[in-house]
Amino acid sequence: MHSAARRVAGMGETIFAEMSALAVRTGSVNLGQGFPDTDGPTSILDAASAALHGGANQYAPGIGIPALRHAIARHQQRHYAIDLDPDRQVVVTTGCTEAIAGALLGLVDPGDEVVVLEPYYDSYTAMIDFAGGVRRPVTLRAPDFRLDPAELEAAVSPRTKLILLNTPHNPTGRVLDADELAAVARVALEHDLLVVTDEVYEHLTFDGRPHVPIATLPGMAERTLTLSSAGKSWSVTGWKVGWATGPAELVAAVTAAKQWLTFTSGAPLQPAVAAALDAEAEFPARLALDLHARRDQLVAGLGEAGLTAYTPEGTYFATTDVSSLGWASGGDFCRALPERAGVVAIPSEVFYDDPDAPGAGRQLVRWAFCKKPDVIAEAVSRLAGADLTC
Ligand code: GLN
Repeated sequence: MHSAARRVAGMGETIFAEMSALAVRTGSVNLGQGFPDTDGPTSILDAASAALHGGANQYAPGIGIPALRHAIARHQQRHYAIDLDPDRQVVVTTGCTEAIAGALLGLVDPGDEVVVLEPYYDSYTAMIDFAGGVRRPVTLRAPDFRLDPAELEAAVSPRTKLILLNTPHNPTGRVLDADELAAVARVALEHDLLVVTDEVYEHLTFDGRPHVPIATLPGMAERTLTLSSAGKSWSVTGWKVGWATGPAELVAAVTAAKQWLTFTSGAPLQPAVAAALDAEAEFPARLALDLHARRDQLVAGLGEAGLTAYTPEGTYFATTDVSSLGWASGGDFCRALPERAGVVAIPSEVFYDDPDAPGAGRQLVRWAFCKKPDVIAEAVSRLAGADLTC
């Protein structure tokens, strides 16, 4: 018998891979997996191509090329007035996904508890499991998806090692506000916890809502590891270039794990991302404006199709409640949707420990709007023309 190890036994593919394959198989409009259908700025594609042809094809330094680490430090300084030593406080990773893996494998011992916002991005729970950690979810509930400080406090125990934050939040689209961030900081300081914060949608906020890194709150810089990437901000999700920044010892823990995961990250893409961070610094703000319009287009269309839609404050995802059409399960709805309407979306139920708990998300479905306006229009018209009732 050659069976899989317990840590992966029974694991299927991710919901994103499954739903993208379903979209291809059924010819559906894919509003599932979050990836734009347009490329990032031409100048950075040119920079990548120049690097490919210019000899940047062997291993980069494990922590990333100096030009990129310096550009990441400048980015944190420019946007948030965060000071970083590019040689000790920045590590380049293979997408934020590797930064998440490196952070959890590098910081969590077996039995350590990790407080995590629920619904949670799927790789968080997989990596907490791989590390032998125990997750303690704190649920963000519709319609506001606010973080309740009392629930956060209640999730902390003497075994808690860190709080895993995500803002702007996937899948709900919440951008944590000053009060919520202050509550997280208060709990972290009171219980001497680390905070690992996934901020990959940092530039994709709407209606003037600011994204505030928790590392900028008093007392937090020394206990916060901040993760991000180029994929969302510069529309190059397939490049898989991310980073972790923060205190040198936390970055060193990520680097230690990273060296056994990928050793180093894609060499020719690193100078291109450095170019994105500096020369295309204005791109993400333009993208956010554009996404704002598409958010409104999609949310209006989802509403017209009879779904209860929650308008997101950030990210490129909108959440709906499908119970207004008689569905008890978003998973059932999403599996029926390609045949009913030729559209694919993501059932949020997979992002909960117990999707049937009060206020949890059995009936929630996530829709991506990082698509061309005519693609969104096509999806909306398909939904409008379909019988979506259960
Ligand atoms: N982060 C993207 C999403 O939430 C893609 C995730 C993935 O495919 N692993 O859709």
